This record gives sequence, C-alpha cells and structure tokens, in this order.
Amino acid sequence: MIDIGTGAVSDAVLDASGGDGGAPGNGSRALATRNEPPRRRDWHRRGRADRSTPAKPAGKTAGGGTEGRRPGSVGRSGSEHDARVDDVGRLTMATATHYDVIIIGTGAGGGTLAYTLAPSGKRILLLERGAYVPRERDNWDSRAVVREGKYHIAEAWHDATGEEFHAGTHYCVGGNTKFYGAALLRMRREDFGELRHRGGVSPAWPIAYEELEPYYTRAEHLYQVHGARGTDPTEPPASAPYLHPPVSHEPRIQDLVGDLERLGLRPFPLPVGIMLDERNPRRSRCIRCSTCDGYPCLVNAKADAQVICVDPALEHPNVSLLTGAYVSRLETSPSGREVTKVHVERQGAEEIYSADLVVVACGAINSAALLLRSFNGRHPHGLANGSDLVGRNYMCHLNSMMLAISRCPNPTIFQKTMGLNDFYFACAEWDYPMGHVSFVGKTDRNVLAAGAPRLVPGFTLELMAEHSLDFWLTSEDLLDPQNRVTLTRQGSIQLSYTANNLEGHTRLQRKLKSMLTEIDCTEHLLPMQAYIGKRIPLAGVAHQNGTLRFGRDPKTSVLDVDCRAHDLDNLYVVDASFFPSSSAVNPALTIMANALRVGDHLRQRLG
Ligand SMILES: Cc1cc2nc3c(=O)[nH]c(=O)nc-3n(C[C@H](O)[C@H](O)[C@H](O)COP(=O)(O)OP(=O)(O)OC[C@H]3O[C@@H](n4cnc5c(N)ncnc54)[C@H](O)[C@@H]3O)c2cc1C
Ligand code: SF4
Repeated sequence: MIDIGTGAVSDAVLDASGGDGGAPGNGSRALATRNEPPRRRDWHRRGRADRSTPAKPAGKTAGGGTEGRRPGSVGRSGSEHDARVDDVGRLTMATATHYDVIIIGTGAGGGTLAYTLAPSGKRILLLERGAYVPRERDNWDSRAVVREGKYHIAEAWHDATGEEFHAGTHYCVGGNTKFYGAALLRMRREDFGELRHRGGVSPAWPIAYEELEPYYTRAEHLYQVHGARGTDPTEPPASAPYLHPPVSHEPRIQDLVGDLERLGLRPFPLPVGIMLDERNPRRSRCIRCSTCDGYPCLVNAKADAQVICVDPALEHPNVSLLTGAYVSRLETSPSGREVTKVHVERQGAEEIYSADLVVVACGAINSAALLLRSFNGRHPHGLANGSDLVGRNYMCHLNSMMLAISRCPNPTIFQKTMGLNDFYFACAEWDYPMGHVSFVGKTDRNVLAAGAPRLVPGFTLELMAEHSLDFWLTSEDLLDPQNRVTLTRQGSIQLSYTANNLEGHTRLQRKLKSMLTEIDCTEHLLPMQAYIGKRIPLAGVAHQNGTLRFGRDPKTSVLDVDCRAHDLDNLYVVDASFFPSSSAVNPALTIMANALRVGDHLRQRLG
C-alpha cells in the first residue's frame, strides 16, 4: 500500500451574474484535503463571498435565468417594514425586510427546500454566501480544479491544536452538490435502527425508514437518479422504480463486475444523478465525460441543487436569491424563543432581514458555527444550545481512495458506475459492518500529482493514471461529543476530530485488496499489484454531518423530529447536520429527501 497525499485548496471567482459550477477533481474528495497555502482570489472569504463581482442586489440571479431585482423590489413581494433602500438597493441597518421564509444556504438541503416551497406562493428569500460558479473552461480542467484548487473556499479553519488548514469544501449557489459525484443512495433500512459496530453502537434515528421512504422516491425522481432496483443486496424497499435506467459500465468496469460476480459477489449499478440519455446520445444533455466527480458540470447536465432546484425555484416570482450574502448572526426576541433578525454581511455592509420562519442550511460545519456565533443573553452558549450539543458529534465518514494499478489499461471515461455492498453489514467474514465500495471519477496525472503518491516502479504518473482502477471506500464513523465544531477567539471555525470505529474500514481495505488478488486482476496486471490508499484527513469534509442532531429529547438533541430547534419556535435546519448517525452511504440523497419531508411540514405550518 502506498499512501497518497491528499487535499487541495482552491477558490474561484464566481460571476454572480450567472454562470455556474466549479469543482475539485476526481478523487478530488481525496484531494480536497491537502494542507497547502491557498492560491486564489478571495471571493468567498468569510462573509464576503464575491468581492470580485459587482453587487447583484437581490432577486433572481442569472445563470438561473433571472437577474437581480433589488432587495427593495424583492421586499415588495414580501412586506416591507420601514424598509429603506439605499442607492444600490441595499437595506440599511435600521431597516428590515420581512419574508415568510428565509433559507440560508442553497446546497442539497437549502436548495431542495426552496424548490419544494416555491410553488406555495410564500415569500421566500435565499441567502447564499457564495456566487454562481462561472461557466468556463477551467470547470473541466484537472490542473485548475484539483492541482490549483481553484474553486475551494479561501478561508482557513483550525484543527484541535489551533493549526490552520484549508478544507475541501465550496461556497456557491448549489453548495457542494455543484462538485459532487452525484452518487445518490438511500440509507439502508437498518441504518435507521441501532446498529452494532466493532467500535460501538450507531444510534437509532427518531424516525423509521418508512417515514422517509416516500421522500427518497421524490428526491430520486427530482434529481433524475439513474439506477436499477433489486440489484443492490442491501437496498431498502422502495415504493417506485427509478425513472431512468442505470448508467452503463464501460468495458474495463464490466470486466471487473464479471470477475466479482464469479467470486459470488453482487456488484450493482451505482445510482447516479446525471442527465445522461444513452438511448439517444445526440440529444443527451450529459456527454459522459471524465470530469464529473469533483468538478462542476460545464454543460449543466449534473443533477445538482442549483440546476435542479434553485434555478427552477427562482422562476417563481415569490422567490428571491441574494448571492455574496454571508449570514453572520441570528438575533432573537427578548424571550429568546424566536429568531427576529438575520444579519447579513454583503459587499462590506451589514443588512438585516427577517422572516416568520428561518431555515439554516449552511452545511453541517457552517450551520453549527452560525448558531454558536449567535449566542446572546438567553442563549449564552450559542443559539438553540440548551443541550450543549450544538457543534458536537461531528461525523464525516471513514473514507479512503484506493488505486489499484495494473498492467491492464483502464481507459474508462465515466468510472462511477459500480457499487459493492456485500460487506456493508455483518457477513460471513466478520460480525460487524465494514462498509461500501464504489469508485471515484477517473483520475489523471494532475489528480495523482495533487496527491503526490509514491511512484509505482516502472510507471510515470501518467501511466499510473492510465492503468488505475480508482476505488472509493466508505465506512461509518460513530458519534463522539468530542468530535466537534467550535469557534476560535477570532471567530473562525475550529474542527476537532479523532477517527473512530476504524477496524471495519481497515478490514474493508484489506478485503478489496484480497478480492482483486483473487480475481486475478494480476492476469494482466503488474506482477506486484500496487495499491494507493489513505484515509482522507481532517480537511476532507465532503461528507460532513451530525453537528445538530435531531431527536425527541431536548436533552440529547438540538432539533426535534421536524428539524425545528427545540429551543426556538421558528428556527429550522435542513442540511446534513440533523444526522444522528452517519451510515456508510453518501449523504446527499438523505439530505434532499429530508428537506422535502421538512418542506411538507413547513407548508402545513405556513398554511
Ligand atoms: C467533491 C465532492 C464529491 C461528493 N460526492 C458526493 C456523492 O457522490 N454523493 C453524495 O451523496 N454526496 C457527495 N458529496 C457530499 C455532498 O455534496 C454533500 O453531502 C451535500 O452537498 C451537503 O448538503 P448540505 O445542504 O448539508 O450543504 P452544502 O451543499 O454544502 O450547502 C451549504 C450551503 O450553505 C452556504 N453557506 C455556508 N455558510 C453560510 C453562511 N454563513 N451564510 C450564507 N450561506 C452559507 C454554502 O455556501 C453552501 O452553498 C460530495 C462532496 C464533495 C465536496
Ligand atoms: S459526466 Fe455528464 S453530468 Fe458529469 S460533468 Fe460530464 S457532462 Fe456533466
């Protein structure tokens, strides 16, 4: 095994007037973590997401199709309370524009919620600290995206010792879904119950799988998931088929699938949300390229939250979006029971908005940070923090990328088509769960170079990339209150995390290695197979979750079952922070499904 270096920092200049997506590279989750000084412009430094772009005051932004009405005019679709709008359409400190709902963050959670609430006619304001990712050649350039980390956040976070690091995450319209690999899996039914692991117990969720099931189906249809029911041996029951056939395997992956099946294993077509029509390639929006997982889609064919949810939501006249709008703080009424003001930093000025309902969807790390920053007399340890759990129980999965380098070339373009869940739960080989195996997008020399792996003898980086099968392994990490988000004295994010439950993951890595040996990949491989594998380090926050867990007991959870803060009447959270356990499948579909579920609740509440 050879360790691959990881991580990458980046950033980009987003054009708030339109354009879209940008991202790290394949394996860029692996690479999204390198501890390296940022080389980028400061467009999404804390609170100022878009220094380089002139104000797009409010309303719908382009890229999404509709360009900015000003806050004042947006407010008119809401009700204005003493709103004074300055000459660039900015609300002054003394004023507040009132909405029915404010949603903070436009990723998997916030974007999906906006989409489902939009037809209600309620006045909805989306606040997003980032901008639209520009559509540009670099979207699909592995050097720009992976090696130079063009689109990652600029701000430094700190580890438990105070050391700075640069997280592999993104601030933009659509959030991290602009860069995701779009593998959209349901959690297993058993994941909703208590599950015994070697390292401890994964706790039960306060809702059963059956409660989320209809929303999983809706989310799969909305995000155009391509897949095949009945092929994944651990998949939970579903009330409807996928609407789109699975993405086909390319020959090298098909060979591997055949080999694994001969071993008695059950590889299955990975469910992915891309707009690929293989029956009609000339009309297919997706062109099946190699720069998908970790990159933004230049042709808007990836089912991300911007394309699928935010832009369609903005077609409704009652929905508005402010980009470059960093929410610095939430203020409450004197009783502390309601959020009354949302403080926004935008273009160097402070703006204030208010809403009947305020929904936080900043991603698990930033949502916790926002609540911690919002402490006041009634909430001295952070908003909604009566349980002292805000920021605690941070989870991110045990993830690793493993490259199997062989003499047999792997010319696959779109590699993320196969999953393997035979070792997801306890099995004949071990009494505890190990996890999920799939692929990252196909690596190239730039992606490998960003990870600075040890060269396999006789191979250049280019040759290694041409011959590698690039696996992605995920196992469940367990909740630990000491794994947490806090704030430094200066107010920046501090992330403390010690991995746990490692044995299952190590066994999964070993299992993959022994399987590849057994199927005699070696027939056309290096006499000595070389594997590159390393767990993703702290900066790999792609699967962040769990910092504001939901539950029935206010003493042991931050949110109630509807994802409303126990301590406040009008504060909700719909991003990955509500997870009480992390399972071992990618999180996005569960976040989307839950946002639809909470959306139904909010629609009822709004009347
Ligand atoms: C490279 C990569 C590949 C991935 N691949 C997959 C995959 O294949 N399958 C899968 O299921 N998951 C994948 N993920 C993870 C997935 O993208 C996330 O789980 C998901 O996007 C999280 O949704 P969220 O709503 O919690 O947060 P996000 O999508 O991160 O959205 C949070 C939003 O809030 C905004 N924001 C943050 N703070 C503030 C603030 N203070 N004020 C205003 N706005 C704010 C951010 O800019 C962002 O737009 C991947 C992630 C990465 C990075
Ligand atoms: S594979 Fe398809 S969806 Fe993914 S980036 Fe390429 S064109 Fe876009």
